[in-house]
Amino acid sequence: PGAFSPEQARKDVPILHRTVNGHPLVWLDNGATTQKPRQVIEALSAYYSAANSNIHRGAHTMAREATELYEAGRTAVAEFLGAESPQTIAFARGTTEAINLVAQSWGRSVMEPGDEILVPVLEHHSNIVPWQLLAQETHARVVPVPLTPEGEIDQKAYTDLLSARTQLVVISQASNVLGTVPPVEEMTALAHRYGARVLVDGAQAVAHMPVDVQRLGADFYVFSGHKLFAPTGIGALYLKPEMAELMRPWQGGGNMIESVSFERTTFAPMPHLLEAGTGHISGVVGLLAAIDWLRSFDQEAVAAYETALMTYATQAMATVPGLEVIGSAAERIAVLTFTLAGHDPASVADWLDRDGIAVRAGHHCAQPALAHYGLESAARASFALYNTSEEVDQLVASLRRLQAAA
Ligand code: PMP
Repeated sequence: PGAFSPEQARKDVPILHRTVNGHPLVWLDNGATTQKPRQVIEALSAYYSAANSNIHRGAHTMAREATELYEAGRTAVAEFLGAESPQTIAFARGTTEAINLVAQSWGRSVMEPGDEILVPVLEHHSNIVPWQLLAQETHARVVPVPLTPEGEIDQKAYTDLLSARTQLVVISQASNVLGTVPPVEEMTALAHRYGARVLVDGAQAVAHMPVDVQRLGADFYVFSGHKLFAPTGIGALYLKPEMAELMRPWQGGGNMIESVSFERTTFAPMPHLLEAGTGHISGVVGLLAAIDWLRSFDQEAVAAYETALMTYATQAMATVPGLEVIGSAAERIAVLTFTLAGHDPASVADWLDRDGIAVRAGHHCAQPALAHYGLESAARASFALYNTSEEVDQLVASLRRLQAAA
């Protein structure tokens, strides 16, 4: 990989050069979705201009080419995540679908009445609700793992909650609301001692830190392409090889079968078993291009840059009167969720929008995490490799003007 500079990354991303409400765009809503480099946009255009075909079926040149592209995407995801082989990767619509897939395909067949699913209070709704649905269906129990005042997963409580009843532990590798990066490797090793399986939600991690699923020890790892500079509608699930035989069909249809008759239907091997119907082929093409783009930069340098940007932003935000940052975990990605005295979060976002600055306001699909701080809503600035300290300065200046105007 080449050296990294945010200016180089910015040059590649056309949308960062538009204006919003008469101001150059400052995109600080990367936690919701990331912007796309031209390499991704051009890959999509090239695919539809010259290579579009369905895959796996039909013995013609373009079907073969599309199949090769799709499988190259699988290989790229496997390498990107440090997985054992491409066969450990199944494509899904995104993090949410991949989690629901695991709940349906694996959870339904293993979960027994009284089994426990440990879910940190920090989790995104998409890593809570599928487990509640599964628990209702199987008479298992969802057990919340509490947070410390800093917004870290309470490790003592976690250790105490683990037992022979624990069937599954789920953990976000990085929180979308507090930025917290929990000690996933240690938590996973501990869960395994009790025979529990671990699902790691990488939605907020993949764009911000090098990932190695084998080192993490994850049994399942899920992420969304759109938070990784790729299109929406495509994401992936990694399954540890030994999990393959435990997976049951969850959606039936084409591609996931070996043969169908009214007497007996047999199924395709993993990972195709989990990919019923025509997949998001162009999405995989875009994901492949996004991974190539990100990997063209030194990943450690990207992570170090974002950490420095976060330190800078944290210090700068502290100078805004009445501003309070939520959460202070020791390990964090570049996410700053905050409240501003005298203003509700929606009007803060509105004000910033008038200056061309995009932040999110709301519950961030993490109501239990906000409730931990007695909040229903907050504003969030979330950064990516193409953001700069000048943009932080613009954010802070705009917030200061808002306070001065009030
Ligand atoms: N988990 C986390 C930690 C997230 O940040 C998000 C997206 N905000 C999701 C899951 C859900 O991702 P998606 O909507 O792409 O399925």
